[in-house]
Amino acid sequence: MKTVVTLLVLLSLGFCSRYIETKAPFYYTELSGPNEIQTDSTIDITYYKLILKIQLSPNYIYGVTTVNGKMPVPGNSFFLNFSSSMTVDSVTGNNVASFSHNYDLLQINLASVSSTFSVNVYYKGLPGSTGYGSFVFGSHNSQPAVWSLSEPYGSSDWFPNKNTPGDKADSSDVWITCPSGLTAVSNGLLNETVSNPDNTVTYKWHGSYPISSYLISLAVSNYTLYKNYFRYSQNDSLALTHYIYPEYFDQVKSNLDETPKMLSVFSEKYTLYPFIREKYGHAQFGWGGGMEHQTISSMGAFSSGVISHELSHQWFGDKVTCRDFRHIWLNEGFATFSEAVYIEATQGKDAYDYFMKSRMNYSKFAVGSVYVQNPNSVSEIFDTYRSYYKGSFILHMLRGITGDSLFFSILKTYVNDTARAYNTAATEDFQAAAERIYGKSLAYFFYEWVYGENYPKYSVVWDKARREDNTYDVIITLTQAANTTPSFFTMPVDFKILTKNSDTTVTFFNNAASQTFTLNLPGEPVSLTFDPSNKILKDKAGDDPVEPVTFDLGQNYPNPFNVSLKVYDVTGRKVASLVNTKQRPGNYEVVFSPYGLASGVYYYILVSGGITMTKKLVYIR
Ligand SMILES: [Zn+2]
Repeated sequence: MKTVVTLLVLLSLGFCSRYIETKAPFYYTELSGPNEIQTDSTIDITYYKLILKIQLSPNYIYGVTTVNGKMPVPGNSFFLNFSSSMTVDSVTGNNVASFSHNYDLLQINLASVSSTFSVNVYYKGLPGSTGYGSFVFGSHNSQPAVWSLSEPYGSSDWFPNKNTPGDKADSSDVWITCPSGLTAVSNGLLNETVSNPDNTVTYKWHGSYPISSYLISLAVSNYTLYKNYFRYSQNDSLALTHYIYPEYFDQVKSNLDETPKMLSVFSEKYTLYPFIREKYGHAQFGWGGGMEHQTISSMGAFSSGVISHELSHQWFGDKVTCRDFRHIWLNEGFATFSEAVYIEATQGKDAYDYFMKSRMNYSKFAVGSVYVQNPNSVSEIFDTYRSYYKGSFILHMLRGITGDSLFFSILKTYVNDTARAYNTAATEDFQAAAERIYGKSLAYFFYEWVYGENYPKYSVVWDKARREDNTYDVIITLTQAANTTPSFFTMPVDFKILTKNSDTTVTFFNNAASQTFTLNLPGEPVSLTFDPSNKILKDKAGDDPVEPVTFDLGQNYPNPFNVSLKVYDVTGRKVASLVNTKQRPGNYEVVFSPYGLASGVYYYILVSGGITMTKKLVYIR
């Protein structure tokens, strides 16, 4: 799932430049009714079939849900989750003796002890809407639009089920009857469309892959169907089906046409799209974000970021589903990181670094652990700073520790291991996959970053000492400000040391709150940069809490030296000349007031002592 936010970038620019991004709060409705749903741990769901009739004006649904399951310990009763605001008319099935429906629980009593069950629940009502709007009768352009968005706990608002991500049905059917002229979209393949004599149409969707109840969806409107194809071998292609509100189609088509490229990037990085026997698709809905329903993401926004985010959830979220919502970062952190994976594949490493830098800055707003302590709170589960940004930065940091090759091998192993594929996972399962591939314990990493809070605030002090053989010792002391959990962060740390003739990057393993590292270099060290590749979520002493960019010119440049700092727009037109003079070495700050400039992307270029540095900035008024 992804909410869409507006970025506001303020800028002051100079030799020491920085940017500040603030975001609009995203909206949510705290869950009403029961919190984390109590589910029946004695049953194992094998199949759901939903037969739903959608009635408009007045809005109403009539449903029959078939639930099949096993009872590993044979018994004669069990319960399903189902909102008490719906009316259950009857429960049928071979062995059904009686039922009761109170407090959002549907208790079903069997006539005899059994190790399996198959029940049909007949019901009707106007579903309540919890979370982000679990079942909505909406509209667009004066046309009806009906949709579901069950995550996290809303599925039992509209059909009886075992309401946990931790129990997947082996397969599912969703049959939806709606007024003629509308199209009803759901998971899997459309097996049949039937026109009924009462001026309604029935769409029969079948899903042949395991599915958690919150990923079962429905979307109904007067859609335009647009198709394109993901060609994944010489002879095979997968149909991508986009169900779009007609009046939006022209403006979103070019983004929809990017979807096949995204499928090939993620298929290459993570293994082939997980639901290759069926489809991938989008169904437009009225919530202002996206939701990764299995094989058919519901979409309110069609930016490249939202499309890639929801698509990647098909691997991380749908194929491998967080076992409960305490581990939601396994869905959201991975999908946010996947946005960066797509950016890197299409725009290069600098664009990836730029994206992750902004994720790092947002991550600093995270309060509490990435592991969700209170799964009763929708806002805690979907806390953007924790589950999304810090979750994604944890993957970026793991990549920094293991290196690219092992890192992507870890992701592949995690998403394909037979114990987890088309099943569920907790943080410990991902940790086990990571340790298996990396070959060393990562206990410190997961304990500190997933279960711990905050991030390290480092101060770095260094000095140099010349030996008799004219080599130099570099003595670095790294100190962390006190934290509670963990008391300090254990990480491999990089230092880039510039000498007069070369630069060297060394990695030390920092496992104390204050630690001194020494190395010997053949040349005289001139400058030192801590964590030059921005691998760690951190603050450095002397820096703003948001990412600073420092141009360190050192002392080996002409003195005084010529400096020019100019700002250009994307067409290459110079819009400002901030500095063009001789300067002595030192720190200078130049404030750039972009009066009269339009919102957009600009570049600032610093030229001095024969070096040129170009940085991108985004200005939004
Ligand atoms: Zn998401």
